[in-house]
Order: sequence, then structure tokens, then C-alpha cells
Amino acid sequence: MGRIIVVPTRVRFELLTVGETFQDLIFAGLPRLPRAGEELKTARYVETVGGGAAITAVAAARLGLRTGTITAAASGAIRQLRREGVAVTDLLRPGEAHAVTAALSTACDRAFATFPGVNARLQPRLEDALSRRSAAHVHFAFAPDSCAVWTRVANRLRARGTTTSWDFGWAPALAGRAGFTALVESADFVFMNAVEARLYARAIRRARTAVVKLGRRGSRWISAGAVYRAAAPRVRVVDTTGAGDAFNGGFLCAFLRGRSPRACLKLGNFAGAQSTRALGGISGLPTRLTFARDHRARASVGTP
Ligand code: ADP
Repeated sequence: MGRIIVVPTRVRFELLTVGETFQDLIFAGLPRLPRAGEELKTARYVETVGGGAAITAVAAARLGLRTGTITAAASGAIRQLRREGVAVTDLLRPGEAHAVTAALSTACDRAFATFPGVNARLQPRLEDALSRRSAAHVHFAFAPDSCAVWTRVANRLRARGTTTSWDFGWAPALAGRAGFTALVESADFVFMNAVEARLYARAIRRARTAVVKLGRRGSRWISAGAVYRAAAPRVRVVDTTGAGDAFNGGFLCAFLRGRSPRACLKLGNFAGAQSTRALGGISGLPTRLTFARDHRARASVGTP
């Protein structure tokens, strides 16, 4: 049993994110990464919610989508997500440790240390909780232990008219895992950054639509016979943590509003770029208000 189940099963979400949340401890503005045995101090620190399930959900909720997430997280993170208007199914059990990532960030480099906590045994619980939820689109944000299990889940969702997307993150073991290509084929969208696109290259050729995030160069949509590109807006970057997950939220918002491929890329770029303007994945994210103020974005995709 999860600790807190707040969502009545009859609620149909526009977007449901499923996967991992982390408590992100971000030490920014370091002059360089510390050497072995060395301690560096910084006045720029933030503790915030991280991980694809949480950040993609918040990006989408801020743009006005009816959004839920199935994840496991610390009580502070759960409260933060609910304040953002995200309906949370929290699968953390009493006495269980949540996941934590410490990020050390300099102007040109980053290093991370992660304690996975509950995330190491979360996947069967995600599958069980998902079977009791309903959404127009389900976005998965984790590297699956079993590709066959999640291919079956995606095919079941498809049969009910639900579209799906994946962001596997950087998971080298996944690229050679049995059934990975079938899992990629089962999704409507597979999101990745440029480095991940090389890691998963063989399977990604079979994707219905691959969406490749290219940092300040924007993003690309690749599907059978069609390639679209969109440039990212220029921003003053403070911290790129979570930009890819924010992109996913913007992209899926435009997709669920029936926008064109290019408009999906543009709203993804807008959310990704805005998220880099502050520390962590969430605080720089656009709201409907900031989005409406961005005339170029509004002209291309309409206010969601
Ligand atoms: P990830 O965070 O997954 O590594 P990227 O670094 O490609 O992915 O960032 C995701 C998206 O965020 C990009 O496609 C782009 O839209 C936006 N973005 C990231 N960095 C910048 C930047 N320096 N300037 C403008 N937009 C950016």
C-alpha cells in the first residue's frame, strides 16, 4: 500500500507522469569541481524536487494541463508538487528512504552523486498503481528493469486509446537489454538528448517518433519520412539541471492540445530554456502567464 493515495480512480488526467523523483541538493557557483579530499564552499545552494516524473509534471501543470504523477518522494517534495497543482500518488512506504541527488555545479561542468533509495524497488509498484489510473497520455520517466513488462503496459494503454512517451535518461545497460527495441516501438514518442541518441541509436531507428533535445541548439522531431527542427530561444543560463524534463512537459502540453510537430518542439524549447534561468528544474519554469507574455511562442502555438 502507498502512504498517501489522494486521487479518486475516476479522475481522467490529460497527462500522467510515471517514474522517479529525487530530492535534489544543488551546490552551484563553485569555482571548480572539488579534488579528492577537498571541501569547497558556496553561497549558492538550493534544495528542490528533481527527476523526470516530477519536473515534467510541474512543467505541464504550469502550462495548464490537468496533470497527475505516480512516484515516490519525500513529504516536502509531495507538498511542493501539490502546491503546483499536480495530483500525486505517492508510493513511498513508512520507514522507506526517498532518493537523493547531490549536484555540484560550476560555470562549465557538473558532477552528481545519487542515493536511489526507494527508486531501486519502485517499478512493480508503478505498474500496479498505473493500472488504477486513467489519462489521455502517460509519460514514463525511468529506465525499465524489464522491457517486456512495460511493452505490455504500453500496448494495453494504446488499446484504451491512451498515447505514451518515454524518457529513459542515460542508462547504458538498457541499450542492449532484451526487448528494448520492441519497447521503443510501442511508444508514441521517445525523448532523448544528443548523447542518449547515440547510446540508443540502433533501437531509436524503430521509434514512431524520436524527439532529440539539442541544448541551446533546440530540438528535432524524427518520424518516418518527416524531420522537423526548432531553434531554442536565447536565455541567460543559470543551471541546466532538469531542462530536458521541462522540455518534455512543454512538448506534451502542445501535443495534447493538438498542435503541429513544429509547435510541439517550440513549446518544448520554451519550457526547457526557461527552466535553465534558475537553479534546479522547477523554479525557472514558465507559467501560463509568462507563456502568454512570450508573443513569439504564442503566435506559433496559441495559448494552451
Ligand atoms: P538534457 O537536459 O536532457 O540533457 P538538453 O540539454 O538538450 O537536454 O536540454 C533540453 C532542452 O532545454 C533543449 O532542447 C532546449 O530546448 C532547452 N535548453 C537547454 N539548454 C539551453 C540553452 N543553453 N539555451 C536555450 N535552451 C536550452
